[in-house]
Amino acid sequence: MIRHPCFDETAHRTVGRLHLPVAPRCNVQCAYCDRRYPCVSENRPGTARRVIPPEEAPDYVEMALTLEPRIEVIGVAGPGDPLANEETFRALSRVREAFPRLKFCVSTNGLLLKEKLPDLVSLGVQFLTVTVNAATLETASKFYLWVRYQGKKLTGKEAAEAILSCQMEGLREAAKAGIRIKVNTVLVPGINDAEVGEIARRVWETGAHLMNIIPLIPLGRFRDRRPPTEAELRWARRLASRFMPQFLSCRRCRADAAGVPGEGDSLQTILWAAAIS
Ligand code: SF4
Ligand code: SF4
Repeated sequence: MIRHPCFDETAHRTVGRLHLPVAPRCNVQCAYCDRRYPCVSENRPGTARRVIPPEEAPDYVEMALTLEPRIEVIGVAGPGDPLANEETFRALSRVREAFPRLKFCVSTNGLLLKEKLPDLVSLGVQFLTVTVNAATLETASKFYLWVRYQGKKLTGKEAAEAILSCQMEGLREAAKAGIRIKVNTVLVPGINDAEVGEIARRVWETGAHLMNIIPLIPLGRFRDRRPPTEAELRWARRLASRFMPQFLSCRRCRADAAGVPGEGDSLQTILWAAAIS
């Protein structure tokens, strides 16, 4: 088993990861995301203090490894969708040249997964996190306000069809390619709580390995929706666990998270300061 803090509960407290904030743009608009406010102080996914140019990635990694030798995984998780930004591939390629032994991990909404899979494989990406929030078109059309796909901006049912089919095909192909896959699902009461089991069943059938159900952080179109209670979250995880293993230690990391999950932000703060100066 290759160790990764977000795929293995035992590695979660001992192995470090470094997110490269190199991917600013996104090709979809999720109803719970508001990227107008690049967040500097909150800990939530999609936030980064600064986007770094791909050319700076090897130095950034070197600095982080000097300060925290337990870092084994380099991830790209935003602040937009990593696969919608060529900078992701340029940054990982440079880091691969400089540090051939590091493990690579990428997060995505899945829209471009099948298309970009050959590039991910050739860069040696071994871990993927794909966010899948819906099993049905009706629910997907509530989650995705628009989707930009093959040069067109799609909305409503068309957007839902495009993203759901891309996610499922991408997951199947990535699993066939031998990549270890975690599916994130944002739990929103009254929107997708009734289909959590069906999402788990479908993604498990594609060959995904692990599921991570995370509570809504109310933002964007969903800013007035309430997050699930602890009991609702437990119930959803129990239901989904009938179909696939559940990851329970997620910290909902920022797009520039650094270090061993849960050990505080000191490394992140030093890297911010160095990147700005
Ligand atoms: Fe990979 Fe996501 Fe963990 Fe970052 S938080 S290392 S992208 S699984
Ligand atoms: Fe925001 Fe990520 Fe959704 Fe893009 S895919 S809109 S960055 S949450």
